[in-house]
Amino acid sequence: MVGLKLKLQNSKCDPVQFKELSQYYQKIEDISSRLKMIEILAEMFTKVNVNEISKVVYITQGALAAPYEGIEFGLSVKTAEDAISIATGISKKEIDDAYKKQGDLGDVAEILKSKSLLKRMSQSTYTVSMVYDSMLKIAKTSGKGSRDLKIRILADILAASTPLECKYIIRYPIGQLRLGVGDPTILEALSVASTGNREFKSKLENAYNICSDLGVLAERLFSKGVDAIESIDVTLFKPIRPALAERLPTSEQIIEKMGGTCAIEQKYDGFRCQVHKEGKKIKIYSRNLEETTEMFPDIVKAVQESITVENAILDGEALAFNESTNEFLPFQETIQRKRKHNIKEMSKQIPLHLMAFDVIYIDGCNYLNKPYSERREALKNIISKNSERVTLSKMLIVNSASNLDNFFHESIEGGLEGIVAKDLKAPYVAGARKFSWIKLKRSYRRAISDTLDLVIIGYYLGKGIRAEFNFGGLLCAVYNKTSDMFETISRIGTGFTEEKMKDLSIMLSKIIIKKKPARVNSLIEPDFWVRPIYVVTVLADEITRSSQHTCGKTPDGRLGYALRFPRLVGDELIRSDKNPEDATTTYEIEEIFGEQRKVNIK
Ligand code: ATP
Repeated sequence: MVGLKLKLQNSKCDPVQFKELSQYYQKIEDISSRLKMIEILAEMFTKVNVNEISKVVYITQGALAAPYEGIEFGLSVKTAEDAISIATGISKKEIDDAYKKQGDLGDVAEILKSKSLLKRMSQSTYTVSMVYDSMLKIAKTSGKGSRDLKIRILADILAASTPLECKYIIRYPIGQLRLGVGDPTILEALSVASTGNREFKSKLENAYNICSDLGVLAERLFSKGVDAIESIDVTLFKPIRPALAERLPTSEQIIEKMGGTCAIEQKYDGFRCQVHKEGKKIKIYSRNLEETTEMFPDIVKAVQESITVENAILDGEALAFNESTNEFLPFQETIQRKRKHNIKEMSKQIPLHLMAFDVIYIDGCNYLNKPYSERREALKNIISKNSERVTLSKMLIVNSASNLDNFFHESIEGGLEGIVAKDLKAPYVAGARKFSWIKLKRSYRRAISDTLDLVIIGYYLGKGIRAEFNFGGLLCAVYNKTSDMFETISRIGTGFTEEKMKDLSIMLSKIIIKKKPARVNSLIEPDFWVRPIYVVTVLADEITRSSQHTCGKTPDGRLGYALRFPRLVGDELIRSDKNPEDATTTYEIEEIFGEQRKVNIK
């Protein structure tokens, strides 16, 4: 990889042609090694100038901006088919038939464009910026006549493009870029592009945890250099990646890990809300940093009324609350507030309460690196005493396992999920699962301590009644954070109602891919590979060692891990608040396995 070192003053490089980007994408799609993928991506980044790097990064992510900006293409497969038809002169029916047969509209566009008798309209090829800007225009076009305008814009680009470009120009706005590149992969490639090696990735990752926008980060890196990455600061309305909790199965272990004393808070089961406030302007972001402000007008109002400072960033959990009985309601009630319609009505029927548990920023002061005890005090001081809908999470400082247990049981009796223990001295660790927060949940009393979040990487066709649904089970993986790979841990054949089977078969058939993705490590071949994008919640009785699965397996022959009696659980079929990189990690599986052994030995 030597020689890839980025010339940071490359602002004068020529703009990159979309044709060139497409050639890189084709290479990435064709290779089956993640390391090679990084190498190609890094080489691609070095060709890009500072004015275009954010656009290249967004396109590679299959997006137009960071997720919290909420900019969506709003372009259906049918609309894209119409544009292909205009650009190639081939009938919509033929295009639709080819799509049904192939299952990939990008491939269809590529093939039909090469067959098209219409000449390329102009030889002036599109640059990356031109394609990106047109796509942004497509996304921002709405209202009467917008469909026709979107078709025209797309058809114009397709008409002037080569078949290979057409493939990606179609896949991009319909959300099916299929490169198999995740955010950590991009970070690593940026590290290689900027420093010549992969070590700078961890600094980039820290900065990403604070600004959550890979485009902005890449632009900063290209324009100001590597030093500017370390000085990145918290900014209002740019969500921080949330701090996450580790898990331990007993109060004794928690107290020991925390060094004898810690804070414990009630654990509320609702929606994670990161609230940004600037005067009366409020925005709310979910656990995976999507903007949810529209969904929670009651929380917006409550924050406007209850937070006494001008500017702040708070972290908390919103959950349904019965005001007459003074009780929190179960998640099944709260989840009904996850909706796009009837928001006002439902916010009256099921009002939410924000339990604030952390603060990241107050009036120009960044609290990320201040210790928990100081942040807690500051948070307490900015919630109005008369507040009815924003409350400080209930907290107790304990120095023994029995005190912790008492609080835990009290919380469970109050209808809550458990507790979160917090290290009094720890900073707010953005984007990481660290032992500065440790969760203890009711479900830990079961054989295996917690539900696991697994990524679907493939599926099987069924026999008997399942054949009817074209669905027989899932092949699932965990995420190995160190290697940025998905490693198999289980086949799952139970926990599916007929409805779930139907839904899964439809959803998964849309993301089938012909071969194993580069970031999947599997010894098992399912009937169909799928793009690893969906996360499901799974409960199992035990973790066992296994020669079949790659989770935890090492080249020196150490066995992998598998799940005993895995079944699909949860209120949602797919965990919409988790990206594949948020799934349970190999490291967590190793830890749970270790804990399980201790329990078994006892
Ligand atoms: P995770 O968010 O850790 O990946 P998860 O989504 O499955 O896992 P849980 O295992 O239930 O969630 O626990 C962590 C979550 O608990 C946090 O993300 C947060 O939304 C919620 N939570 C509720 N109360 C608190 C609290 N007092 N302090 C911190 N987090 C809390």
